[in-house]
Amino acid sequence: MKPHDGLYIDGAWRPAAGQDLIEVVNPADEQVIGHVPAGTALDVDSAVRAARAALPIWAATPPAERSARLIALRDVLVARREEIAETVTAELGAPLAFSQTVHAGVPIAVAGSYAELAATHGFEERVGNSTVHHEPVGVVGAITPWNYPLHQIVAKVAPALAAGCTVVLKPAENTPLTAQLFAEAVHEAGLPAGVFNLVTGLGQVAGQALAEHPDVDLVSFTGSTAVGRHIGAVAGGAVKRVALELGGKSANVILPSADLAKAVGVGVANVMSNSGQTCSAWTRMLVHTSQYDEAVELAAAAAAKYGDRIGPVVSARQLDRVRGYIERGVAEGARLVAGGAQPPREKGYFVSPTVFADVTPQMTIAQEEIFGPVLTVLRYEDEEDALRIANGTVYGLAGAVWAGDEAEAVAFARRMDTGQVDINGGRFNPLAPFGGYKQSGVGRELGAHGLAEYLQTKSLQF
Ligand code: NAD
Repeated sequence: MKPHDGLYIDGAWRPAAGQDLIEVVNPADEQVIGHVPAGTALDVDSAVRAARAALPIWAATPPAERSARLIALRDVLVARREEIAETVTAELGAPLAFSQTVHAGVPIAVAGSYAELAATHGFEERVGNSTVHHEPVGVVGAITPWNYPLHQIVAKVAPALAAGCTVVLKPAENTPLTAQLFAEAVHEAGLPAGVFNLVTGLGQVAGQALAEHPDVDLVSFTGSTAVGRHIGAVAGGAVKRVALELGGKSANVILPSADLAKAVGVGVANVMSNSGQTCSAWTRMLVHTSQYDEAVELAAAAAAKYGDRIGPVVSARQLDRVRGYIERGVAEGARLVAGGAQPPREKGYFVSPTVFADVTPQMTIAQEEIFGPVLTVLRYEDEEDALRIANGTVYGLAGAVWAGDEAEAVAFARRMDTGQVDINGGRFNPLAPFGGYKQSGVGRELGAHGLAEYLQTKSLQF
């Protein structure tokens, strides 16, 4: 797509108040592929005013009509699927096939799910002598990261629109073109002016202004725990609602009765997909001591097979960060069995699929989110030890359990302090609530639970 040189506010592309631009770089070859405006507090204010003005009519639009607009939006995303995939590949670096199936495919499914929920959700219920109305929260400030650029946007905007809220989106600096394409789709789908607004810009300028804006009723943020903590404090100070989807350091627990080869193979694929830039990736593989050496061998072989097939990480900064963690792992005594800090190519921000063995639970690489294609393999002595290690980080976003018997895996999963667990390789479900325990966040996205985040209740007594 051709980049816009404006911001999408009140149903049209308008010039930004300032002159500053953000450069968009293709991480696979380091070429500049476009520029977008770096919006400021003035632009955020215009966008919030537009969203506020559009709110009464959109909030009063019958859910069936909101659903019809969301169906139209889903249909535009379907029609432009190839362009979405190409745009994500150009600015994020994901291999095209992955962009087609996941980066374009998942948001289409999620948009469809909210079109259906808008039409079927009970926005009114009877409780004894009361009628409880589920009303839109109001103006939503949505702040999103780059790792799944369209999915993160749709997972906020679709439920917000289904609920009757209006939105101002501040997307990540690295992937603004996908956000512009989404704004085009909203326009084509015929959503009323002001219902959705886009301000591209820097986090500390436009993002900060959006989080602080007194006329934003709910801040929905996905990104790092460090920034999330700050946004939570800003929102708390203003007594406004906040949803935080933050980092993770999830455990893939392989119990001794599991199919080891399958569990390791799927586990490695999970970490390498999207070049490890998935907040819910199972970056700690936990293996019983009796099977440890075999698992390490299998994991190293599986990672080596990926070779060149994974894409780059998103930016030079991210490359430095990931390489820094790999060097730290070696310095702290972990054993590299695949990959390493040496870049595999001269151009582009590539990292070799990397596996560390002999990782102990306290090592930095076992505690901190790396956000790159780096797997750590840890050893446990018995189930209690596995549980201690699995729960032994500040995070609690996702995880996996493998066992010969499903009931055994479920019993273990129920004891994990985490928001979602895949049992024996269970598939992604776009209707299941997604979100974190502990410092992985506050609130849930997707499905009916995601819709509820954008609603507030009013009780009428009779
Ligand atoms: P980030 O926190 O640096 O940025 C996320 C967004 O916040 C961007 O749009 C950025 O511009 C904005 N931002 C930055 N500083 C801000 C400020 N002071 N005020 C307001 N907005 C600000 O994170 P990132 O590097 O873009 O993304 C990677 C992180 O996101 C990882 O830690 C990852 O785990 C997390 N993540 C979590 C989930 C989830 O659902 N839990 C999903 C994807 C990514």
